[in-house]
Amino acid sequence: MNNNFDVIVLGVGSMGSAACHYLAKRGHRVLGLEQFEIPHDQGSHAGQSRIIRKAYFEHPDYVPLLQRAYKNWKLLESEANAQVYFSTGLLYAGKPEGILIKGVKESSEKFSIPVESLNATECQSRYPQFAIPDGYEILFEPDAGFVTPERAILLFVDQAIKHGATIHTKESVIEWKKSGTGISVITHKNVYTCAKLIITAGPWASRFIPQLSSKLAVSRQVLAWVNPNQSQSFALGKFPCWLIDDESKPGMYYGFPVLPVGQWGGPIGLKIAHHYPGEVTDPDKVNRVSSPADEANIIYALNKFLPDGYKSMHVLKTCLYTNTPDENFVLDFLPENDNVAIAAGFSGHGFKFASAIGEIMADLVTKGNTGLPIDFLRINRFIL
Ligand SMILES: Cc1cc2nc3c(=O)[nH]c(=O)nc-3n(C[C@H](O)[C@H](O)[C@H](O)COP(=O)(O)OP(=O)(O)OC[C@H]3O[C@@H](n4cnc5c(N)ncnc54)[C@H](O)[C@@H]3O)c2cc1C
Repeated sequence: MNNNFDVIVLGVGSMGSAACHYLAKRGHRVLGLEQFEIPHDQGSHAGQSRIIRKAYFEHPDYVPLLQRAYKNWKLLESEANAQVYFSTGLLYAGKPEGILIKGVKESSEKFSIPVESLNATECQSRYPQFAIPDGYEILFEPDAGFVTPERAILLFVDQAIKHGATIHTKESVIEWKKSGTGISVITHKNVYTCAKLIITAGPWASRFIPQLSSKLAVSRQVLAWVNPNQSQSFALGKFPCWLIDDESKPGMYYGFPVLPVGQWGGPIGLKIAHHYPGEVTDPDKVNRVSSPADEANIIYALNKFLPDGYKSMHVLKTCLYTNTPDENFVLDFLPENDNVAIAAGFSGHGFKFASAIGEIMADLVTKGNTGLPIDFLRINRFIL
């Protein structure tokens, strides 16, 4: 067996699978190493759906990357003849002076992204499922929706293999080190060498980038699927994705329509979660048992914003965020070794970008740079 590759991708989850796809498509000899099955529910990508939106409240600098991500998701769909993006529209609500409403307006104005403003009566007649508190502003982004993480990862991997990539599952990387002019990667099964290494290890990233360990905090996040009253009124096609900035709690609540039984895998029900860094954890020692407080937090939000949304709890699951101090990603080379590129710290909002990040990582290791604007995500924010 030839153990030498142009590029090794450490971690074949959201970002790693996309990187393998772009590299293989360009004809590079790529090895993707994944410690678990592909996909799996121990990292950051499990749970059927991830919101995708363009009027990015977090920062307008993300919008060009989102425009590329939308384009690249379409490309994946046409190459794989499958659907990963579902347009449902997205309802935003919050105090006018809060970061959500202010940020959505700023990005949508700067980049002319269609966003409608709804008054309470219009919202009630279009989506009577919501109870939006008085004094909240309501916006609607028609071009938003969700992407399907597990399916997208599998498609990226299938396409990568079709273009000649080698992907090993259940093979855990123990360490990497400089070796001659390149890198050697040691797993619990073998030793490989490569010219370039991409680290896309998600919650485990700081094991391989110890310089960043004080800047990457892994947190335990809870996702819930509940049985609503009148499931039909929350069904895909009738009910949008949503994101509400609750002024009496930190962070935001968000959710998805009820998906039809059969084609999605995983739990079926009304899916809801709280976007706010949870308890800090070790990715190998996560408490995956939900607590009464986890459950109470979900029921609180449903009672407040979707009064018909909660009849009974179906299932709660845990997933992991990897948070940076400014909640922005890190996309760069390691300062001391430009043969190693990293994509880390996605801070709970990265999946929608995976199709663009794959391209960016392939650009970095094959061309030395990318035409996509990532300067605001460089590592020199944290280490020089
Ligand atoms: C509850 C929840 C809700 C979210 N909602 C949204 C949303 O609505 N919209 C959105 O855009 N984003 C959302 N996100 C964020 C998004 O899912 C993450 O930002 C994204 O999945 C991170 O991708 P990643 O590639 O860094 O991590 P992962 O997808 O976890 O991939 C990392 C991979 O590296 C592998 N790995 C690690 N160490 C090793 C090793 N030693 N050897 C081999 N393999 C290794 C892991 O097993 C894993 O497969 C959400 C996240 C969570 C947890």
